[in-house]
Amino acid sequence: MEIKRVMVIGAGQMGSGIAQVCAMNGYDVILHDLKEDFVEKGISGIKKQLEKQVKKERISEADMDRFLRRIQPSVDLTNAEDVDIVIEAAVENMDVKKSVFSQLDEIAPEHTILATNTSSLPITELASVTNRPEKVIGMHFMNPVPVMKLVEVIRGLATSQEVFETVYTMAENVKKTAVEVQDFPGFVSNRILMPMINEAIFTVYEGVSSPKDVDEVMKLGMNHPMGPLTLADFIGLDTCLYIMETLHEGFGDDKYRPCPLLRKYVKAGWLGKKSGRGFYEYS
Ligand code: NAD
Repeated sequence: MEIKRVMVIGAGQMGSGIAQVCAMNGYDVILHDLKEDFVEKGISGIKKQLEKQVKKERISEADMDRFLRRIQPSVDLTNAEDVDIVIEAAVENMDVKKSVFSQLDEIAPEHTILATNTSSLPITELASVTNRPEKVIGMHFMNPVPVMKLVEVIRGLATSQEVFETVYTMAENVKKTAVEVQDFPGFVSNRILMPMINEAIFTVYEGVSSPKDVDEVMKLGMNHPMGPLTLADFIGLDTCLYIMETLHEGFGDDKYRPCPLLRKYVKAGWLGKKSGRGFYEYS
């Protein structure tokens, strides 16, 4: 199946990155959000990103204009009526995603693939609110999208082979490396990353070491580019807690129990970089 027109739902951090890489690789993109302001903010973020690339002489000004012309703003979900794939990157909330998917199922043509960029929510459950579970799939980009090379392509229980292959090829067409993953909590990326972050938090909680030294161990000792607590602050501690809860509930295994210190920080509103304080302070 050939994909030409793409709709991206959610013009936040991830949605605008996804719209950008699609436009840069020849796809016509509709970038959709709840309000015009949000879409404009997303598009101006993309423009800034592209301007940086022009400055570094990676692309020309004409390229930038061409890429931007391929992105059409939207606040009307019925724009899904002539797209080949929708990539949903709205907030990480099952009720919101289910509502978007059931509306899209009504609006989009029969052949349209409904993909989600969810970090942790079950693809199969999301597919169950549509009449096309064979066309529902996970397409999990990493943050920041224009930089990170990986896309996890996640098969729901009913995802068809044709849809899987189409999305896998599309990930490669936007110059990413795709990996095949089955629909289990946390997929591969967050099933491995989040317990590591959670364990790093436990070492601080139990007084084994300080956040700075825990990060130093993983950077200098394990060659990680960034320590786990710095990374947790970047991801957002609320998001980390949410994913740990998904793993804990999904597997029913206490090895995934969120560290009490992580819960405490989230309750305090210490969410990491975005709130100015997490394991570190940000001005
Ligand atoms: P964000 O908060 O930056 O953006 C979400 C956007 O979705 C907002 O602009 C919001 O207005 C919009 N939105 C909310 N409800 C909507 C609706 N009903 N219809 C249309 N738009 C709606 O969030 P983000 O970090 O871009 O994350 C988006 C998705 O990507 C989440 O599912 C998240 O788990 C996933 N994800 C995030 C990361 C990350 O590091 N941030 C990485 C991989 C995947």
